[in-house]
Amino acid sequence: MTAKSFHPPVRTLMGPGPSDVSPRVLEAMARPTIGHLDPAFVGMMDDVKGMLQYAFQTKNELTMPVSAPGSAGMETCFVNLVEPGDKVIVCQNGVFGGRMKENVERCGATPIMVMDDWGKPVDPNKVEDALKTHHDAKLVAFVHAETSTGAQSDAQTLVKLAHDHDCLTIVDAVTSLGGTPLKVDEWEIDAIYSGTQKCLSCVPGISPVSFGPRAVERIKNRQSKVQSWFMDMNLVMGYWGGGAKRAYHHTAPINTLYAFHESLVMLQEEGLENAWARHAHNHQALKAGVEAMGLQFVVDEAYRLPQLNSVTIPEGVDEAAVRAELLNRYSLEIGAGLGALAGKIWRIGLMGSTSNQKNVLNCLGALDAVLSDMRAPIKSGVAVAAAKAVFAE
Ligand SMILES: *Cc1c(COP(=O)(O)O)cnc(C)c1O
Repeated sequence: MTAKSFHPPVRTLMGPGPSDVSPRVLEAMARPTIGHLDPAFVGMMDDVKGMLQYAFQTKNELTMPVSAPGSAGMETCFVNLVEPGDKVIVCQNGVFGGRMKENVERCGATPIMVMDDWGKPVDPNKVEDALKTHHDAKLVAFVHAETSTGAQSDAQTLVKLAHDHDCLTIVDAVTSLGGTPLKVDEWEIDAIYSGTQKCLSCVPGISPVSFGPRAVERIKNRQSKVQSWFMDMNLVMGYWGGGAKRAYHHTAPINTLYAFHESLVMLQEEGLENAWARHAHNHQALKAGVEAMGLQFVVDEAYRLPQLNSVTIPEGVDEAAVRAELLNRYSLEIGAGLGALAGKIWRIGLMGSTSNQKNVLNCLGALDAVLSDMRAPIKSGVAVAAAKAVFAE
């Protein structure tokens, strides 16, 4: 059989990621491939590092993109900071805390789990109790923005608690970076990782990471070798570390890095604070529409993420059929629930360049149309106007 060229349909991506990628970013990706040690490429790498420091709000020297998706950033933080026999306090309030536990175990260390309900933030009191019980714990790991539920945890408070008990911190900021306030230096986060395909509106495949001074100290003083050759920061820095003497470590994903560079330029042009405000504002409009329709939010407003909206499914509605209709009739993707929330919620993403007025109104209109056609118990024909009123304020 002879396969033909693949031409994907044009979608609007309003799920839990990837989010829509700006044409500017896609165009950057199509520029000529050059060598990964070409002086022109090395100059671009320095720009990426500088813009990443801005995005993370950090002066950390060890700030760079790992050449693989967010999960690899997670693994990079764990394999470098955890040694066999260590105790690590892992907070779980959704899917991704569970993956942190897996990482700790695979490093030959012991996870001490602090569990919270899905849809709730990490409870600092429980973390404090765990720190008091386990004096020998070396690290606290938690997810800032739980994409599986849409709940945000108080990173600054959790980091302070960890430090009060001589623990370092690993923070998952895959969904928060670029979408909600995140200040690595001010909050004294030791190690953090993110992804490009959520609020940074870039293609998937890159994971920005940043390590602060305490984390660098710990990596340098390890008793054992980092068990992953590819992710060993001591070796990666030979390529990403400053200066002219860059050595081959692996072939960087050159064109993907052009794309990432462009998305960071766009973030810089918009301004980080403006990006946070845009995500918050579009969430308010979506919320007005969703609630006017008669659906509810799963996560309490006090700790709800504007970029990931978990909403209830009306009585008697086949949630998968609704998502299929949205995709087939309106080329619109929204997300399903995961784990404890599977079949119970939809996850509507308003991340990165997806977060705009047009998408809020289109999504509400399409959802209203599909649910009305199914004779679902909703209030029809009011959602778009409710959102429009928020935009008119
Ligand atoms: C998406 C996500 C990840 C994993 O990122 P990938 O790029 O899919 O590997 C990790 N943590 C959180 C909170 C996420 O939302």
